[in-house]
Order: sequence, then C-alpha cells, then structure tokens
Amino acid sequence: MADNKKNKKNNNKVQDDNYNPKFRKMRKKVCPLCADKNLVLDYKNADQLRKFINDKGKILPRRATGACAKHQRDITLTVKRARQIAVLPYTAE
Ligand SMILES: [Zn+2]
Repeated sequence: MADNKKNKKNNNKVQDDNYNPKFRKMRKKVCPLCADKNLVLDYKNADQLRKFINDKGKILPRRATGACAKHQRDITLTVKRARQIAVLPYTAE
C-alpha cells in the first residue's frame, strides 16, 4: 500500500520532494545587478531606479526585485539618494 503511494508520487512530472502545485509558477529570480555586470546604479538615473520602486514610491522588497542582499542594500541606498535630490518621490499623492 505504502509502496503504491510512493510510485504515484514518482510518476509526477516534477521529481522534487517539496513539489507543491500551488507554487508551480514560482521561479528562482536572478539578481538583476548580478546578472548584468555592466549595470551600475546611478542615483541621477530615475528611469533605471523606477524599476525598484512601486507606484507609491516605496522601495520594493527583495522578493519582488529578485536582488541579492548585497545589491538590495545598494538599491536602497541609491533610491534614498535619488529622493534627496528629488529625482524620485518620497511618496505619490
Ligand atoms: Zn546581486
């Protein structure tokens, strides 16, 4: 009986033990700054930084940006610098 259940599980397309159909479409995000070595954050470049803030002007979390811890710190610092020189808003509305 127990063997039968095991066989059913192994016949699934995904072999991962932690497979959960709820999270089927979640993929590991790659840090945009690690992926592109030529990409350098610039606090004067609003278009570049707009990818890392939401429509309210808040800095997006790592789970949304996909950035690694090191680069998320860089992003945060750069966005805060940009806010100070009014390149980015502190808040919208
Ligand atoms: Zn990174």
